[in-house]
Amino acid sequence: MFDIHAHLCFEAFDQDREQVVASLRSRLAGVLVSSARYDEGRRVLDLVQKHRGFLYASLGHHPVEGDRLEDTLELITAHAGQVTAIGEVGLDYHWETDPAKHEDQKQRFARFIALAERLQKPLVIHSWDAEQDCFEMIRGRQVRAAFHCFTGKRDLAMEIATAGFYISLSTNVFFSKAIKKTAASLPLDRLLLETDSPFLDPDRIRKRNTPDNVLLSAKKIAELRGITPDEVAKAAWENAKRLFRL
Ligand SMILES: [Zn+2]
Repeated sequence: MFDIHAHLCFEAFDQDREQVVASLRSRLAGVLVSSARYDEGRRVLDLVQKHRGFLYASLGHHPVEGDRLEDTLELITAHAGQVTAIGEVGLDYHWETDPAKHEDQKQRFARFIALAERLQKPLVIHSWDAEQDCFEMIRGRQVRAAFHCFTGKRDLAMEIATAGFYISLSTNVFFSKAIKKTAASLPLDRLLLETDSPFLDPDRIRKRNTPDNVLLSAKKIAELRGITPDEVAKAAWENAKRLFRL
């Protein structure tokens, strides 16, 4: 089992990060550690360096919270050898509702798509309430990609999967009807699992989420599909290996 999206460099893990990683080793095959901002990206590179072969780096620029665009692009290029994926990057119309500002988001996202093509790295896409536009922007491009924390409509998920991209379902699968629908019908060879730790704890009691909770998601998705948790876990792991070239 593999968590394709966790923010292990967030403050929430400052007190016990090494213990958390040590305990994850016995339960998971690995974690793709994500960044949304420049400084977080630097910390992710340091952390991943200490845990080679178990933690992998995904460096990005969140469409709303991202900062230091040029520096981030440079950081990814300079450390291309240590970077497994580019993300999270993308569009967010949920937090940014002003259409005039969506153009600016698109211009920034386009820079990362071009970089992903140039470096041959997969994209981890943030697409909250902007799934269709994200899809339009990568469709037909020479990129591999995963839609992280997908909360869009099932029909769109199916279209994205048919186009060869991956859909990553978060621990939100426990309480979102839309995600349950997608989880029940998405082709198994396009499914990825993630926690978005420390966010989205599956009990929804505002406690810290941790990457091993992908095991709970696998169980839940198996139940929805009428298959075994092992089948879900195995498929998600094979997909992660293929997409991220692990
Ligand atoms: Zn994230």
